[in-house]
Amino acid sequence: MHPNIDILCDVARKICPDKIITLNTNGLLLPKMKNEFWQSLKKNNILIRLSIYPYNIKLIPELTNLFRKNSIRLNIWDGRKFYLRKAKCYQDDIENIWQNCDAKICHQIYKGKLYTCPTSAYGFLYNKYFNKDFYFDDGIDIYSHTSNEIYDFLFKASKNCATCLNKGRLINWQLSKFKSDEWDV
Ligand code: SF4
Repeated sequence: MHPNIDILCDVARKICPDKIITLNTNGLLLPKMKNEFWQSLKKNNILIRLSIYPYNIKLIPELTNLFRKNSIRLNIWDGRKFYLRKAKCYQDDIENIWQNCDAKICHQIYKGKLYTCPTSAYGFLYNKYFNKDFYFDDGIDIYSHTSNEIYDFLFKASKNCATCLNKGRLINWQLSKFKSDEWDV
């Protein structure tokens, strides 16, 4: 959790006074959060979206009490199953793949750049670890582009979508065995 998360919540609410704002977390650090954090969530009407996996499911009763005590709205996302959608080779119809992708709104920010989805942002790790050279977007620098340029970048298909499949494979959440074929459909 960011050390100044309470201030970030204030800023987010100031910029987006009428929007639903959610904080996504696996909840592991929530029992250690200070009062300032809970007060900021409440003051700014920020919802927590708790992602549930086999390793944190036992925490739900404790976390539910914590949310109740602090009067914070909770939304649970069940992450015990994942869609694996990485193709073994490049696909052709990237517009169609992008249109049907439910991850295209999972925008990521990493080292000052915005990315359409987690695949774009962290695909370089796959390449690095498995010594591959799949194309992954380079993101868009948030400091040197206008809001319109960023918007255009985030809401259109990219070459990166050529490494994805519309219909992936549903798998159970599990620890990685660090083999490249775990990632391919
Ligand atoms: S690369 Fe394109 S198709 Fe693949 S997850 Fe990201 S937005 Fe979706």
